[in-house]
Amino acid sequence: MANKRIAIAGFQHETNCYGATKAGLIEFEMADSWPGMLISAQVISETEGMNLPVAGFTEAAKATGFEVVPILWCSAEPSAQVSDHAFETICGMLLDGICKAGQIDGIYLDLHGAMVTEAFADGEGEILRRVREIVGPDVPVVASLDLHANVSAQMVEHADYLSIFRSYPHLDMAETGARCVPVLQRLLAGETLHKVFRTMPYLIPLHAQHTGSAPFNEIYQLPVRFERQKILAEIALGFTAADFPDTGPSCVAYAARAQQATVAVEEIVNLFVAREADIDCSMLSLEEAVLISRQSREKPVVLADVQDNAGAGGTSDTTGLLAVLIESGAKSVLMGLFHDPESAKEAHVAGEGALVKLAIGAKSNLAGHVPVNAEFEVLALGDGACRYTGEMYGGGVATLGKTAALRLVGHEAEVDLVLTSIRNQCLDRAHFTHIGLNPKNYSVICVKSTTHFRADFEPIAGEVFAVSSPGAFLCDLEKIPYTCITRRLPKTRETVFDTSKADSKKKILIL
Ligand SMILES: [Zn+2]
Repeated sequence: MANKRIAIAGFQHETNCYGATKAGLIEFEMADSWPGMLISAQVISETEGMNLPVAGFTEAAKATGFEVVPILWCSAEPSAQVSDHAFETICGMLLDGICKAGQIDGIYLDLHGAMVTEAFADGEGEILRRVREIVGPDVPVVASLDLHANVSAQMVEHADYLSIFRSYPHLDMAETGARCVPVLQRLLAGETLHKVFRTMPYLIPLHAQHTGSAPFNEIYQLPVRFERQKILAEIALGFTAADFPDTGPSCVAYAARAQQATVAVEEIVNLFVAREADIDCSMLSLEEAVLISRQSREKPVVLADVQDNAGAGGTSDTTGLLAVLIESGAKSVLMGLFHDPESAKEAHVAGEGALVKLAIGAKSNLAGHVPVNAEFEVLALGDGACRYTGEMYGGGVATLGKTAALRLVGHEAEVDLVLTSIRNQCLDRAHFTHIGLNPKNYSVICVKSTTHFRADFEPIAGEVFAVSSPGAFLCDLEKIPYTCITRRLPKTRETVFDTSKADSKKKILIL
C-alpha cells in the first residue's frame, strides 16, 4: 500500500452546554492538558509517542507505508459551546489544508464527537459533512472519536469508519487512532464496508461509565469478540452535558455484509438493555464524604469531586467539598486542582514560606458558589510545566500556568491544596508530585475529576468514592435542565452509604 497519501487533522472539543465560558480561538491555540494548536509538520513532531489518537494513527500509518500529510491539530479544554468564530476559522484552515495538499487518497480526522458550536449542535457531523463535500464520495474518510462521543447519523453517514475509545479512563487513545489504519487499507483496496448504526434508549452519567466496572467491562468485550469475525463494532457511551437530540450512547458496526453488522449492533443493544440495572450511579453527599474522611485506613481514600471536573467543562474552582472538610476538622487532606489564577498570583507575590490570606475558588461567577477565606502557608511555587507520569497521559506535558502548593493554617483541619492558572483536570499524581506533594503521604485525596483519575490514583488508594458537591458538570441527570435530549434517564439501583455506622467500610446496596 506504499505511496498512498493520507491527509490527517484533529479538531477536538467536548462541550458542556452548562459550562461557565465558551471556547474561542485562543482556547484552541493555547496549551492545557494537551498541546496547543499544531500546524503541518508539528502535528507529528509534537505528538510523537503520546497517548493521543493522532499519534497512534501516524505511527501505524507510517509503519504501513502510507505517506502522512499533516494539516493541523488542536483541542480546547472542555467548556461551553465553541464560538462560531473559532469553529469557522479552524474548519477553514482544515478544509483549505486538504484542498492544498495535492493528490490525496484518504483522510483521517482526530475528533471528539461531543462538540456543540454556537451554530451547530452536531459539530463533528458538520465537520465531516464539509470534508465529504470537498473530497467527494470516493475518497475514504475515517475518524477516531472519544468514548464520550454523542454519535449522530450525520457523522456515520459522512465517515466511512468511526473508531471509538474502548476504555474510560481513556488508556487506548493512540490504539483507537491506529485502528483506522487497517480499515483505510481495506477501503483503499476497494472493499466495501456496510455500516449499521443504533442508539441506546437511556443516558448514562459519566461517573457511572467506568469501563473497569460492571456492566461496561462486559459490554466492551463484544467489540473484541466481533473483531475475530472481521466485524468492527464501536460503542460510545455519550456525553450527558451536551444538550442536543443525539446525546447518549450508541453503537455502529462495519462489516463486509450488512447482515453481519446488523447482528453485531443488535447484540450490543440487547446487552445494554439487559444490564441497565447494573449501572451504579451512586454518589456520596457532602455529609457522607465527611464521615468517610474520618475513617482510619492503611491507604488513602480518594474523594472525587465529580461535578467540578475541568475535563468535562467544570470550572474546577467550586469549594463545597473544601468547605465541609475544613469545617469538620478533617486531617491529612490533599486537594486539587483549583483553577484560581488570582490566588496563585498572590501566592507568587508572597513567596515560598510566606503566610498569606486568600479567598480560594469561586472565581467563575457560578451562581451560589462562594470562596473559602482562610490563611495559608505557601509551601511551593511553580511555573506549571508538569510532565505526566501516569498510564493515561504518561510522556505528555500538562501546562498549568503559575501554580502554588498551599497549606491551611490556623484551623484544626489539615488541608494542603494545589492552585493552577490554567484549567486542567486532576487525573495524574504528577499534578501533585511536580510541586512537592506526594499523594501517598495523605489519608484523604480529593480530586476534581470524574473517572480519569482512577488510572493513576486507584493503584495507591484503598477506596474511591464519587462525591456530589455542586458544580457545573452535573452527574445527577435529573437536575440538568435539558431542552433537547430524546433519551430517558437510566433506571438503576440506588447505592446508599450507611451513615449510621461511621466506621463501616461497606456500602449498602438497595436493589
Ligand atoms: Zn472522554
